[in-house]
Amino acid sequence: MITQGVRIATRCDACGGVLTRDIGQFIDRGRLWWGTEGACQSCTVAWCEQDSGSETPEDIRQALLSEHGPARLRLTWPETSPVAVLRALRELQGLTLTQAKALAGELKATGLVGTLVEMEFVAAQLWQHSVRSVVEPRRR
Ligand SMILES: [Zn+2]
Repeated sequence: MITQGVRIATRCDACGGVLTRDIGQFIDRGRLWWGTEGACQSCTVAWCEQDSGSETPEDIRQALLSEHGPARLRLTWPETSPVAVLRALRELQGLTLTQAKALAGELKATGLVGTLVEMEFVAAQLWQHSVRSVVEPRRR
């Protein structure tokens, strides 16, 4: 399973104690999931939230990006059939043709940038349409 996570210690709003947050994204059963879990060491504050869908909450994305850095997805062969790329991208998030075209153009020109799990998810979708791509993790 492709997964990426980060653990952050922050201050508990309720009691001022140490609050530990576990944040992550993963791919399971062909879907992109995100999760956030938190627990205070000094009081009863605790939560656990998990969901899937095309949009991961921005604070979760930012936490992963700042800890692990962005990953870049590139086409292995940029001359790959644009039709297959478009079809794969449209299925991915229910994009309109215009949105998919913009994304495909970006992918071909510079590659797409996002969290490692997001880029692996797009790569898996492209693979299903026989489009080969590679995810390059980037170090800060
Ligand atoms: Zn607390």
